[in-house]
Amino acid sequence: MERRQMLTITAAVGLHALWARPNEGHAQGQYAASEQRGAAFEQAKLPYGLGDLAPFLSEEQMSYHYGKHHAAYFKKLNELVLGKPEAQWRLEEIIAKSDGPLFNNAAQTWNHTFFWNCMAPNGGGKADGKLGNAIERCFGDYGTFETQFKTEAAKLFGSGWLWLAADAQGSLTLLPLANAGNPITHGKTPILTIDVWEHAYYVDYRNNRAQFIEEFMKRINWPFVQQCYENTEPA
Ligand code: MN
Repeated sequence: MERRQMLTITAAVGLHALWARPNEGHAQGQYAASEQRGAAFEQAKLPYGLGDLAPFLSEEQMSYHYGKHHAAYFKKLNELVLGKPEAQWRLEEIIAKSDGPLFNNAAQTWNHTFFWNCMAPNGGGKADGKLGNAIERCFGDYGTFETQFKTEAAKLFGSGWLWLAADAQGSLTLLPLANAGNPITHGKTPILTIDVWEHAYYVDYRNNRAQFIEEFMKRINWPFVQQCYENTEPA
């Protein structure tokens, strides 16, 4: 990827940190991928209570996923950047420029915060507005998109993330990425994601990933996802 292109993408993705959803009365900082204080990256608060997604995801499931797994990535990331220039970088910049453990832990902190925002207790329905139009343009219709999304998420081998991502022209593709993969390193902007690591669903769904995906589709936070797509447009 050319440096210029990468900077454009990271700038666009970086806007996520500034978004607030005005109708929900939360402080802007709640939507930041992380809050940087001194040398440390800090885990952002969940945009809802730990038990608020139940019965889709129980408080126990979310306590492990948010409180143990996501928190552990922050702890490890902070250890890795301690005393290094990367401690002052934006998280998106670390994701774009690093590899190995630093990439893995930086991307996992970012990916999870994005994933939390992709779900809402009163989520569901389907994409509307510009994103709805783009889905029809790129997939044919919403039903086809939904079927392909579920299929790709189910068949992703091992641990990883299925992303809906946009290119610079606003075209959408499904991007199945292993481990801590993120569309930023593929020159694309994240629009929607589902975490298909077993730790994301094992407490509630055991080995039934397909059921977890089915229920996820009913809790998608489309206003957030649509905003992610609209933010990819040039000002
Ligand atoms: Mn996870």
